[in-house]
Amino acid sequence: MDFNLNEEQQMFLDAVEGFASRNLAEDALKRAHARGFPKDVAKMMSEQGLLGITMAEADGGQGGSLMDAVIAIQAVAKYCPRSADVIQAGNFGAVRVLAEYGTQDQKERYLAPILAGEKVISVAMSEPEAGSALTDLKTTATPASGGEGVHLNGTKVFSTHSPEADLFLVYCRYGPGVNGIGSVLVEPDTDGLTRGQPITYLGGEEWCQIYFEDAYVPPENILLREGGFKRQIAGFNVERLGNSSRSVALGRFAYEMARKHAMDRKQFGRPLCDFQGLQWKFAEMKLKLESAQLLLMRAASRADEGFPSVEDTALAKLACNRAGHEVASEAMQIMGAAGYSQDCLIEYCFRRTRGWMIAGGSSEMMLNRIAESVFERRFSQRPPKAT
Ligand SMILES: Cc1cc2nc3c(=O)[nH]c(=O)nc-3n(C[C@H](O)[C@H](O)[C@H](O)COP(=O)(O)OP(=O)(O)OC[C@H]3O[C@@H](n4cnc5c(N)ncnc54)[C@H](O)[C@@H]3O)c2cc1C
Repeated sequence: MDFNLNEEQQMFLDAVEGFASRNLAEDALKRAHARGFPKDVAKMMSEQGLLGITMAEADGGQGGSLMDAVIAIQAVAKYCPRSADVIQAGNFGAVRVLAEYGTQDQKERYLAPILAGEKVISVAMSEPEAGSALTDLKTTATPASGGEGVHLNGTKVFSTHSPEADLFLVYCRYGPGVNGIGSVLVEPDTDGLTRGQPITYLGGEEWCQIYFEDAYVPPENILLREGGFKRQIAGFNVERLGNSSRSVALGRFAYEMARKHAMDRKQFGRPLCDFQGLQWKFAEMKLKLESAQLLLMRAASRADEGFPSVEDTALAKLACNRAGHEVASEAMQIMGAAGYSQDCLIEYCFRRTRGWMIAGGSSEMMLNRIAESVFERRFSQRPPKAT
């Protein structure tokens, strides 16, 4: 067991940090408050080979490991928290499921422009009546007459970047039960697809309702048919590690800012770091960040064939989400009014880390997954069936 990065990983980390400090640090605050997906950053990152890190070279990726992607997303977040979302979108999110299960044709049409930093993909899973209980989703994919395509009917909510997405990966139902669920790729200008007004999350990202009314999806855009749900969710554990990586990285960003502040700022004629009450806050913050980071690294390094296990992912996500938000909150407290102001990135880190405790499987759902691994059995969350 080695807790250090190997030589290659260290070189990669240094290179990404160098890129981020030179190109992204200066406008980090501006970017945090800007609307929309930073496509200019996506272009730059594509040129640096930072999109598709874990994907096959034949698909336009770098053939790297999940650990490499974690290193990259955290190195970018260290200098520009908002730009880390671009690494997420180009490596961890729906793009990873597309790369894993897409046909050659789908990869050429959709994966290539995403990895070139030209297009944005959004995952449309959640529905008005299917949040944590995702398998209750109602959006149907019914066979279109005279072909192998399908018609989509239903409504999706909460999909990050949906107002500006160029492509949706839509979870849909071909038949009853979990086994009836699969997914399709849908372009936003498809007849029968309409988008509602953009709504802004506390963290600044936007989403909108997506309505499907007999929207036709041709056979070449079907990603996974019946029985695809478990494969999709296995891929989604990668997304969860991207969420975890950013949580802990934004917590660390806030911690570093507060640490410097505590050494510079004087009250009662002494630097803040002279007060034991604040020293202990830093000790607690460090403990939270480092322990969460270890769980994250373990989950990424043990990922089998690129997909991390359910248990490793749940432990890492819960620990990183908690650490990120609790540390950002303490950092804000230590910075006083300055940290609570919008010209300070701590305020942004506080807002963003809050959302990740809900997104991608809430903290409560991660506790449920961990409890299942403790007792090695599944606990149904549904009401008992009448006998
Ligand atoms: C920042 C952000 C980004 C998101 N991006 C996307 C996206 O790109 N695509 C997408 O499809 N969705 C996205 N979502 C939606 C996200 O997946 C859902 O918010 C999440 O699954 C929870 O669903 P819900 O909000 O409907 O809450 P609900 O499922 O209604 O849950 C409400 C509360 O009850 C708790 N709860 C529910 N069931 C249980 C249980 N069995 N045991 C204990 N507690 C329980 C939950 O943890 C939560 O605290 C995003 C959400 C956020 C906040």
